[in-house]
Amino acid sequence: MPSAPGGPRLLLRRLREIMAEPVGAQDRLDKIVVLIAANMVAEVCSVYVMRGDGMLELFATEGLNREAVHQTTMRSGEGLVGLIAATAEPLALSDAQTHPAFSYKPETGEEIYHAFLGVPLLRAGNTLGVLVVQNRTLRVYAEEEIEALQTTAMVLAEMIAAGELQALAPVETGIALRRPVYQKGIALADGVGLGYVVPHEPRVVVKNLIAENVEAELLRLEHAIAEVRTSIDELIERGDVAHHGEHREVLETFRMFAHDQGWLRRMREAVTSGLTAEAAVERVQSDNRARMQRQTDPYLRERLHDLDDLANRLLHRLVGRNLVAERGSLPENAIIVARSMGPAALLDYDRSRLRGLVLEEGGPTSHIAIVARALGIPAVGEVANATSLTEQGDAIIVDGAAGEVQIRPSSDVEAAYAEKARLRARRQEQYLKLRDVPPVTKDGVPISLQLNAGLLVDLPHLAETGAEGVGLFRTELQFMIAERMPTATEQQSLYSAVVAAVGDLPITFRTLDIGGDKILPYMNTIEEENPALGWRAIRIGLDRPGLLRVQIRALLKAAGGHALKIMFPMVATCDEFIRAREIVEREKAHLSRHGYPLPSELKLGAMLEVPSLLFQLKEICAVADFLSIGSNDLMQFLFASDRENRRVADRFDPLSPPMLRALKMVVDEAEESGCQLTVCGEIGGRPLEAMALIGLGYRSFSMSPSSIGPVKAMLLELEAGPVGTFLRDELERAGGGDTLRPKLAQFAETHGIPI
Ligand code: PEP
Ligand code: MG
Repeated sequence: MPSAPGGPRLLLRRLREIMAEPVGAQDRLDKIVVLIAANMVAEVCSVYVMRGDGMLELFATEGLNREAVHQTTMRSGEGLVGLIAATAEPLALSDAQTHPAFSYKPETGEEIYHAFLGVPLLRAGNTLGVLVVQNRTLRVYAEEEIEALQTTAMVLAEMIAAGELQALAPVETGIALRRPVYQKGIALADGVGLGYVVPHEPRVVVKNLIAENVEAELLRLEHAIAEVRTSIDELIERGDVAHHGEHREVLETFRMFAHDQGWLRRMREAVTSGLTAEAAVERVQSDNRARMQRQTDPYLRERLHDLDDLANRLLHRLVGRNLVAERGSLPENAIIVARSMGPAALLDYDRSRLRGLVLEEGGPTSHIAIVARALGIPAVGEVANATSLTEQGDAIIVDGAAGEVQIRPSSDVEAAYAEKARLRARRQEQYLKLRDVPPVTKDGVPISLQLNAGLLVDLPHLAETGAEGVGLFRTELQFMIAERMPTATEQQSLYSAVVAAVGDLPITFRTLDIGGDKILPYMNTIEEENPALGWRAIRIGLDRPGLLRVQIRALLKAAGGHALKIMFPMVATCDEFIRAREIVEREKAHLSRHGYPLPSELKLGAMLEVPSLLFQLKEICAVADFLSIGSNDLMQFLFASDRENRRVADRFDPLSPPMLRALKMVVDEAEESGCQLTVCGEIGGRPLEAMALIGLGYRSFSMSPSSIGPVKAMLLELEAGPVGTFLRDELERAGGGDTLRPKLAQFAETHGIPI
């Protein structure tokens, strides 16, 4: 393998000299390709730049036919260069011509070259072009050569981003500096938000890349590392996290990483090769991010996340920015873009200025999604590369219903969404008008519509929507957003505030539903192969009765003198319910012995989420005062389909016969036993599904606030009798698998029912 004559350091120094020369853009670019070819011992070096129309155009070459410059073009995805642009990944081949994507451009004369190394010109996640070197021989490019070319590509990308090459592009297209990008993700919280990007962890855009003085840069790097280490020590020793526990261990590991010799060595080497301290940190961070994306092991992913966070801290130090102060103030119409976010983080932002949330991670039932829904903030999750595709201040649109994001939208796209947002607002106004209309079907069947809640901020929705009460209060939210286990007093004070806020309306608290996807950061978790089927919810409550007792006591005290409903999550057997009920009875007796006022009425229920209860319906109805169907979990267990796993989450339809028949069994038995029945899973909040449930005989629902209006609008136009007959007939006639969705939608349409 031929070795580069000057090495990367000399190359960067020469590049800096060329950048400072008073020559035109084309001359500068021509000199650069000659320099790179010589330094890399390659016969060819070419620069392709992405134009505004999405075409890659050859802007300069050493080695290929000069006549092809500004003539040869290709689409993103076309040929090897197009492939690099499309994947944003380097590509090294010892014989390019045997690669299936190879496409031959006769005007360039490249047929005599075999070895090929190309890297994308990346800036802030945008591909601005491709840099290629080629050799006649069948040679293998070494890892260091690929890295050296990537470092050079950073300088070229910066040159393009600074607008230097704009004049060389055709006037009609220009260069695609900040192209519009459409990204599909998944819907987390309904609504349309138009605004401007505010990165949750503002990334530092490194502008100064090439070191003037390597020794001075090394010193800057060492200083920044020392400062970051001290700040982490301070963070860890702060009173609130100094206690033992998993949280502490995570931070200790984080601290250890700040001393990781491999990481530090790689950054020092990058500085020694001629980069500034910040460019070196960013270079190593990019490598780490690429590794993180490929990494499937959750433990290693977390560790790489730690390194990424450390790199961010270093970058902020190096460019002299203060993270905390920047987060404190939020511009108007802010759309927060984050890789991931804890459920509490959203609460820190000024909600009056917040228009949306975009996450690279986070499924529909993640806790940040639940909080976003509670706050009414449109949110989209699983948006690939959201943080690297966007920069502070970029225009962005979040469509929380469709699960779509438009980054730097064109003016017509923006106008279309603005119209959509206006339409939505108008519909919201109509729903507001329905607020005081009793939820009774056209044929006079009253339907109870209640709210799902979990935070105090949810409760004003009661008045706004005209809901009849709170049918599911997810008590775990308080635990999940806290930094440590809420004390008995803290629990009681939240429950008292909730009881006061609902006044005379009914309230159903669900006891702690943790485990599975709901993790408390401060609680020791045990590794489980299948956490959704593991130690969670009422199972933890019964095995650690201390936890459940404290909560029950807090609930009973808070609801003294008021009617109270308590339900238990994930009940799989009647025995579990009976044991939970005994804990409540004991607490009730204890409080009454000590003279506390008890709830005026107390009803205990089981959530029906585990299919085993379907086969103990009579028995559970005999011991429970009410049942509440947690359809989110019931669906996942009935179809063995992980609700958090995108590949399977939407694979099965709740409107298919298996689920509808299960739901019918429950409503029939509940009616026969005189057991109250509610649906509190997401299924009840969707108008078409709610219509089917009313057809099956369901009369009580609890749903997220934004669903009340659409479901009420639907049922006001519905006749419960005919939809019941229709559904029973269809269910009898249906085969095993076919969903009844199209038939139900057709029914709604012919009967003028808005769904
Ligand atoms: C459900 O499973 O349907 C439910 C309401 O509970 P959660 O979504 O909180 O698991
Ligand atoms: Mg559930």
